[in-house]
Amino acid sequence: MKFATAAIHAGQEKEAKTGAVIPPIFQNSTYAQKGPGEHTGYEYGRTQNPTREAMEKNVAALESGTHGFAFGSGLAAISTVAQLFQAGDHIIATENVYGGTYRFFTKVMEKFGLKFSWVDTSDLQHIKNAITPNTKMIFVETPTNPMLVLSDLAAIADLCREENILLTVDNTFLSPYFQRPLELGADIVLHSTTKYLNGHSDVIGGVIVVKNDELAQKIGFLQNAVGAVPSPFDAWLVLRSLKTLPLRMKAHAENAIKIAEFLQGHPAFHTVSYPDLPSHPQFALAQKQHKSPGGSIGSGGMVTCITESFDKAQAILRKLKVFTLAESLGGVESLVCHPASMTHASVPPAMREKIGLSDALIRFSVGVEDADDLIKDIEQALEGV
Ligand SMILES: *Cc1c(COP(=O)(O)O)cnc(C)c1O
Repeated sequence: MKFATAAIHAGQEKEAKTGAVIPPIFQNSTYAQKGPGEHTGYEYGRTQNPTREAMEKNVAALESGTHGFAFGSGLAAISTVAQLFQAGDHIIATENVYGGTYRFFTKVMEKFGLKFSWVDTSDLQHIKNAITPNTKMIFVETPTNPMLVLSDLAAIADLCREENILLTVDNTFLSPYFQRPLELGADIVLHSTTKYLNGHSDVIGGVIVVKNDELAQKIGFLQNAVGAVPSPFDAWLVLRSLKTLPLRMKAHAENAIKIAEFLQGHPAFHTVSYPDLPSHPQFALAQKQHKSPGGSIGSGGMVTCITESFDKAQAILRKLKVFTLAESLGGVESLVCHPASMTHASVPPAMREKIGLSDALIRFSVGVEDADDLIKDIEQALEGV
């Protein structure tokens, strides 16, 4: 089945009793048994839920994996991956990860004896230098948030195979429409479904996809043992949204390049970053790695730029109207954010400076509205600033 067909049909059967075309929301905690231990395969809602299963199978198909596991948030998915390891294990992570991931690894998992190295994973040599005999996982986010730095997944996957290290990729920023890490050799791919997979800013959720039975068995055990599962309704909303993922991602990317080109041509902004701009330092890697299943190139809807000063950034952010000033990203509506004081406030200032996250940086999550209205909105916000 091709991607757009899988997005609509994978994991879903017509409901047996009525033929309902859309899988029902099984809003139940338990299932009747005929005799003790004689069940239908469904025992308890944390362990199995048909609505959640449909969504898990759907995302697994889109990510070219074999098993999907849904969670109550992206961080719940990340926390479940971290629980594959034990005290003394060493993890190499992209230095410029999502702020909540950085906080979780350093403030929570370090207490349990996991060791982390924060590395610029866009440079393979830096990863090689950080590997120790205890290194068990490389955790990569690409493109990074908010700097949009890319890591070469195929090259890192080759290294991981040689060194017998797991490769986990946070694919939240591109979704499987533009990047399929398991096809490039990663072992685990995960998402905050809160962002593009759900895409309508009305769910907090997460998902993990793997492509082999042994890892699936371990993650499935943890999903049930740890219990950070989503509600059936949230799983259903994500399943509903996945049907339009190809349409939405195409529209996000078409708008994002227009916004990026507008910002690049305007004197109020500099250091405009979008991987499909030829000025992006890793433009060539984006052309190779960010491919839709049909072969077209696109880099999602995230665009960042730097304004003249902290004060100018603040003034522009207050005046934007179509772009809503808010955390989060990946919804059909355009959002804008000031990472240094919002999403990345928990990242220490020294680390922010190291990765180039300026106080004057603005991050746009370009939605699927008419691009002309988005550009007009930025133009009106600049008046008198
Ligand atoms: C939002 C986000 C997360 C965390 O997901 P939640 O659903 O908010 O828990 C993890 N990684 C990335 C890249 C994100 O953008």
